[in-house]
Amino acid sequence: MPEIKVLSEEVISKIAAGEVIERPASVLKELIENSLDAGASRIEIEIKRAGRGLIRVHDDGRGMDREDLRLSLSRHATSKLNSFEDIYSLATFGFRGEALYSIFAVSRLKMSSCPAGSEFGFAIEGEGGRVTAEIPAPPVKGTTIEAADLFFNTPARAKFMKSDAAERAHLIKTVEEAALANLGTAFRLVIDGSEMFSLPVLPGGMWENLKSRASVIFGKSIYAGLARVEGKTSGMAVYGFVSRPDALAATRVNQHFFVNRRPVGSALLKQALYRGYGHMLTGRHPACALFVELDPGAFDANMHPQKRDVKFSSENEIFKTISGTVYEELLKKQTAAVELGTKAGGSKFAVSDVPGYREPQAPPQPAAETGGLFDFSPAGAEAPGPVPSDWRGQDLSYLGQLAKSYLLFECGAGLLVVDQHAAQERVLFEKYLEEFSTGVIKVQPLLVPLEAELSRSQMETALKWRDWMKTAGFEIDQRGPSVALLRAAPALFYFTQNAFSEFLGYLSEVLGEPEKAAEDVKKNIIATMACKKSIKAHDFVKPQEALRLMEDLKKAKDGHHCPHGRPTLFFLSAADIARRFQRSSAV
Ligand code: ADP
Ligand code: MG
Repeated sequence: MPEIKVLSEEVISKIAAGEVIERPASVLKELIENSLDAGASRIEIEIKRAGRGLIRVHDDGRGMDREDLRLSLSRHATSKLNSFEDIYSLATFGFRGEALYSIFAVSRLKMSSCPAGSEFGFAIEGEGGRVTAEIPAPPVKGTTIEAADLFFNTPARAKFMKSDAAERAHLIKTVEEAALANLGTAFRLVIDGSEMFSLPVLPGGMWENLKSRASVIFGKSIYAGLARVEGKTSGMAVYGFVSRPDALAATRVNQHFFVNRRPVGSALLKQALYRGYGHMLTGRHPACALFVELDPGAFDANMHPQKRDVKFSSENEIFKTISGTVYEELLKKQTAAVELGTKAGGSKFAVSDVPGYREPQAPPQPAAETGGLFDFSPAGAEAPGPVPSDWRGQDLSYLGQLAKSYLLFECGAGLLVVDQHAAQERVLFEKYLEEFSTGVIKVQPLLVPLEAELSRSQMETALKWRDWMKTAGFEIDQRGPSVALLRAAPALFYFTQNAFSEFLGYLSEVLGEPEKAAEDVKKNIIATMACKKSIKAHDFVKPQEALRLMEDLKKAKDGHHCPHGRPTLFFLSAADIARRFQRSSAV
């Protein structure tokens, strides 16, 4: 018969720790939540060696006396919950009374605290759940908790940790989310001795503070693409920032959702956001800091120890309110933008605006319906005129340029219309990939390096990929916590300051995700982005340049599409033209 044993307290505490403390960021999250619950107006965080070395959180909150300090370390010790019923109406963050107990079980812990007005502070030290010292501490109002050598006594768990860069990214995200959700508290984050950010509480209202924090946390370029949304229905409110439909990104890394100012991961909220973009989405992803305020009884966030999952009691209502708010606000802004655009003379020239571009029998475009007004899918891509397969073999005679964007050629008896930038991108793209795969990228050092302002997590990724970027012909350097420098680039490309900033910001989002993506995919991504952002030849094109571009395009493997898949050209046959004039024959 197997012998039944009762587990020792030490083993029990490690098991409990395993549930609550998954990685350094979970420790940090718990400590920050405790500081917020203690009413802190300022929280200072210090991290060493990606949280494995040290996680230190100092707050100016209400503090604990000697007795509370001791108690706080025991299991199910909490000052926030008296009865089980409270769980359903609790407005504070934690309730399980397990966090400090669990952190203590797997680290060397030092806590010092002093309640307001008290003359003495007090400190407790210990490791692996055992107290080793209780000593007086200076009477500094608030609490300081240091968790050092995380998982020192659970080597199996330590092995599950990801790279330093990955753990650091989680730590930074934890602070970013806390700072977005708690605008009345100042945050400062120091990692390995250097300040990542300091977010004071500014005079002015909630929006002022949210804006200034979002611009630091998202970085200037993503921030510039955000729109403010706000909506209300009975029993709930939604507000925050979401990407404008013309500023969507390649990945979802910059999405932050909050329910009652608590960061959450929720498929429902995510889906509702995406639904809010409807057809404007085009396979790309919005950034967001989206806040939902609900009656605390209307959802349950405590079923999972990590407390990121939420369950809502009325999912339909929430889904509708969020998607409806996002949709309406974006529609309003988009309509305003379109109206402005036409007043300014309509310098933006979309293919579908070309009179007579569509087949005459095609039904008229629905105007106010979802498709017409703000169709962000590649304009007109759904119905390009058939491309004569033999245009490569034909003599082209250059007719001229239209709207500084399109090159017109006579081809056979028809008209070949070429999107100049799309064609240039395609040619550049293939030349670069050719150089890349033969290993001979011509690199051009920059006399004056270009700068890119990045968010913290983008910078993490950029640094992680620095070596690979070098093989791609880009020499990246860091200056300060949020500025990356470009010292050399492939000679094929020419970037402006802004273009480089967008290129790198975007790239460090995309490269962040598919760590294990095939080399080909990564090459493709960097080539696509570089071509998009690199300056093309001048808008005005001389006839020889137009013809040379067509020679290059003829040689391209896929001359019919730009690297993003938009068509580079379409063809109006002589018969098409004749039909428009209601002639019975082509000529
Ligand atoms: P919980 O937060 O679920 O109550 P914890 O283990 O995280 O459980 O904390 C236990 C208790 O210790 C809290 O209820 C609170 O009374 C006290 N405490 C923890 N951190 C702080 C802090 N920074 N300031 C004041 N009190 C704290
Ligand atoms: Mg807690």
